[in-house]
Amino acid sequence: MVSVVEAAQTILDRAHPLGTEMVPLTQARGRILAEDITAGEDLPGLPRSSVDGYAVIAGDDADKLEVLEEVTAGRLAHEQVRRGTAVRIMTGGTLPPGADAVVMVEEVEETNGHAVLQHHPRSGENVHPPGMDLTQGQHVLSAGSRLGSAEVGLLATVGCVDVPVWRRPRVAVLATGDELVEPEETPPPGSVRDSNRYALIAAAQEAGAEVVWHAHARDEEAALEEAMRQGLQKADVLLTSGGVSMGTRDLIKPILERMATIHFGRVSFKPGKPLTFASSSEGKLAFGLPGFPVSSLVTFEVFVRPALLRLGGATNVLRPRVDVELEHEIRTDAVRPEYQRAVVRWQDGRFIAKTTGLQSSSRLMSIVGANALLELAASGETLPKGTMVKALLLANL
Ligand code: AMP
Ligand code: MG
Repeated sequence: MVSVVEAAQTILDRAHPLGTEMVPLTQARGRILAEDITAGEDLPGLPRSSVDGYAVIAGDDADKLEVLEEVTAGRLAHEQVRRGTAVRIMTGGTLPPGADAVVMVEEVEETNGHAVLQHHPRSGENVHPPGMDLTQGQHVLSAGSRLGSAEVGLLATVGCVDVPVWRRPRVAVLATGDELVEPEETPPPGSVRDSNRYALIAAAQEAGAEVVWHAHARDEEAALEEAMRQGLQKADVLLTSGGVSMGTRDLIKPILERMATIHFGRVSFKPGKPLTFASSSEGKLAFGLPGFPVSSLVTFEVFVRPALLRLGGATNVLRPRVDVELEHEIRTDAVRPEYQRAVVRWQDGRFIAKTTGLQSSSRLMSIVGANALLELAASGETLPKGTMVKALLLANL
């Protein structure tokens, strides 16, 4: 049995980015940038007014300034501003030569082509100097970063329209178990609807992967082996659920052993001790996730998600970790570190955590609505209300 840290390291050591492709800007959101990006020009290229007003020479103490012309965004001035003159200028307009400040329109009285300033600006007032937002040659985005709206805007700003991104990992999902029926069916006595297949498809998609194949197989050796070979052939990563514990119909491990190298088959982790990890000679990864719905999703979150992000080229693959205060007492496991599902909120200057109730590994309702996993070290002791513990943040609070 390996520790959480050993298991996570073993997995990440075998997860390497898969290659790159180009996508248009409109399809770049959520993708991982494959190259560093630099700015080709200064932005702004010329000094620019940040307000609607009058471009003047700071320190010009003439009573009235002759208004020479009007400059709007995208058009350059024809005239040079000298003492005793001004140019009406709109937001984003390029400062006329000679001027070094802009007085806001609210602070100017203009009559008969002459402006009277009610405010005397200092040099540079309301002016964005060249290179204020970006300078030529500046490194603006790093390879490995996730592209959100601001990053996409920046790519457009620097003229990067074909965006180099890492290829998304291809994932195959195989649910196993004789007791499973399709979600549209009414389960006969002793059966349950297959929820893991759909939960894992969603989890893989949330992690930026492309789910290329999914299926259900019964607990029969030949059928299982055939399905697992198919999944592994079609994808970079195979996720199976169920069939990895100690029961007589738990056949995944011996089959996996025939098509890949198993690196570990048990982790000191709750929920999901039987998590199994293997890699093929071609470098494909296979995860045998436990069957209980909560165990399969929590092991996905802690062990599979970082691997998918790394395969997809991301540098930052870990969730943020914060200190939280328990709102109620919690009994810890005596042997395995436990990842309890919780709702964390910010209150009176600190994070407060409340678990989602019964933490049974079959109870999906213990994950629904959770925004954090509490990392509880194994001691067998009861942590009193008010104890500080570490939490992995799963979503925005
Ligand atoms: P196993 O690890 O195969 O023994 O499965 C453990 C428990 O998880 C079983 O009792 C099943 O009821 C449940 N289970 C396994 N696979 C699924 C699935 N795909 N969807 C929902 N529940 C499952
Ligand atoms: Mg089973």
